[in-house]
Amino acid sequence: PPDVETLGNATWTLLHTTAAYYPEKPAPSQRESMKSFIESFAQHYPCWFCKNDFQQSMAVEPVQVESREKLSQWLCRRHNEVNVKLNKPVFDCTKVFERWLNGPPS
Ligand code: FAD
Repeated sequence: PPDVETLGNATWTLLHTTAAYYPEKPAPSQRESMKSFIESFAQHYPCWFCKNDFQQSMAVEPVQVESREKLSQWLCRRHNEVNVKLNKPVFDCTKVFERWLNGPPS
């Protein structure tokens, strides 16, 4: 089975960074491809219990691709749901760009 922790950390890094560099004003085609990317990701993530919960969460709150801010905040909320489930600290979503766009923590 996959190493759920290493996989998770690497995956959140990819997802949050991708959201932080997503356009502030995405073109319709960019919105469409991002929606497809996230929905496909949710179908293929190789941790079945993670994937099931993520799909359920997306059914309750569909992915928001209208802007960099919307996508980043949507993703931050999804990650916080997992943090709560795992008893990890909840992340302050006002700090997503500080963490993922402006640079890693020192
Ligand atoms: P991570 O949670 O991987 O976080 C990495 C870094 O992201 C943190 O150091 C912090 O700087 C930053 N961060 C933390 N929270 C946020 C946030 N809300 N927004 C933005 N940045 C943030 N593991 C399970 O055991 N069960 C599951 O059901 C499960 N579901 C998952 C679902 C998905 C879609 C993914 C990608 C991962 C899932 N994981 C799950 C893995 C889990 O979330 C962690 O990645 C793993 O436990 C390693 O944790 P970590 O301490 O390295 O920090």
